[in-house]
Amino acid sequence: MHILVTGGAGYIGSHTLIELYKAGHTAVVVDNLSNSNPESLRRVAQIIGVDRIPFHQTDIRDREGLEAVFTKHHFDACIHFAGLKAVGESVAKPWEYYENNISGTLVLVDVMRKHDCKNIIFSSSATVYGDPAEIPITEQCPKGQCTNPYGWTKSMLEQVLTDIQKADPSWNVVLLRYFNPVGAHPSGRIGENPNGTPNNLMPYITQVAVGKRPQLGIFGNDYPTPDGTGVRDYIHVVDLANGHVSALKAIECVCGLAIYNLGTGHGYSVLDMVNAFQRVNGVTIPYTIQSRRPGDIATCYSNPAKAEQELGWKAKFGIDDMVRDSWNWQRLNPDGYNEN
Ligand code: NAD
Ligand code: UDP
Repeated sequence: MHILVTGGAGYIGSHTLIELYKAGHTAVVVDNLSNSNPESLRRVAQIIGVDRIPFHQTDIRDREGLEAVFTKHHFDACIHFAGLKAVGESVAKPWEYYENNISGTLVLVDVMRKHDCKNIIFSSSATVYGDPAEIPITEQCPKGQCTNPYGWTKSMLEQVLTDIQKADPSWNVVLLRYFNPVGAHPSGRIGENPNGTPNNLMPYITQVAVGKRPQLGIFGNDYPTPDGTGVRDYIHVVDLANGHVSALKAIECVCGLAIYNLGTGHGYSVLDMVNAFQRVNGVTIPYTIQSRRPGDIATCYSNPAKAEQELGWKAKFGIDDMVRDSWNWQRLNPDGYNEN
């Protein structure tokens, strides 16, 4: 299939491009580079062994720009990664988050339907479950109260896409609820490249390991979990990328609306992650225990059985692979894409 990948220069998008090409698909990237560097696409092309990945530096809110892309290419489906994703920033800048993520998706979907491309895979998040009503979380678990505007954009966009598919059943909409993506391509050539202070655990750990930050702050050790620190379902980004390739198969089978958790089904605590990182990579991660981060929940992990049963997709990489590949990327690229 020929796929439009919005946000394809970013962390998950760049890894997904590789798996798409490996599976025989081709792709065109639309990205405004607000949180990415085109060097990622050059490296993806090298890994795949093609001259270049077709790329348009276009904002998905720019209707004319998107029209031009759709006039130039015929797409079978869109994998829609483009969006702002920093939880803390979304609390400070709610308008910017609602405008970018929601307006952008509304324009994208409108241009798609005008060009008769009605297949979309949307990057959603386990954050839509709020403080989940059940653990492990199945797709049957009701959506909950989000604790920040970023989460609400995901929850609202799920509803928007659900309603559009209901009104026009010729759409195929796949909502993929990611758990906690970590790791990097095993080549160490592409990976997560956060701007400023990382919000997420793994990039913070790797920046401590590489000497950019003195120590990790662990946000709370008094949760009702085995060691008191928060438990999450970390998933290797290459597994996550392959989840999108599997979701394309659902679209080929005319799935209508389909929702899948993409996780491993295993919960690891913050201390589990720190200890695995130290053991596998032979580096020390100094840390202090700090107070809980507002909005955090104690435990969140998936039941990923539906994706396995219906898509034949299952995460293959374990915690050792995740911490090894995260470190490999950071070690080889201490300043991300900003050097080399
Ligand atoms: P990322 O920031 O690395 O990639 C997103 C890309 O979208 C960036 O390259 C950015 O420049 C681009 N973008 C943002 N707004 C745009 C716009 N208006 N027009 C065009 N391009 C735009 O983030 P990521 O980690 O790769 O996440 C990809 C998607 O997955 C996002 O929608 C994110 O919310 C979602 N998601 C991520 C995580 C995670 O932990 N990384 C978890 C759940 C869901
Ligand atoms: N965390 C932490 N220190 C950090 C970043 C995160 O202790 O610097 C903890 C956080 O409280 C949570 C887990 O690590 O329990 C995962 O947080 P992250 O922000 O990576 O993902 P979330 O699940 O919150 O989206």
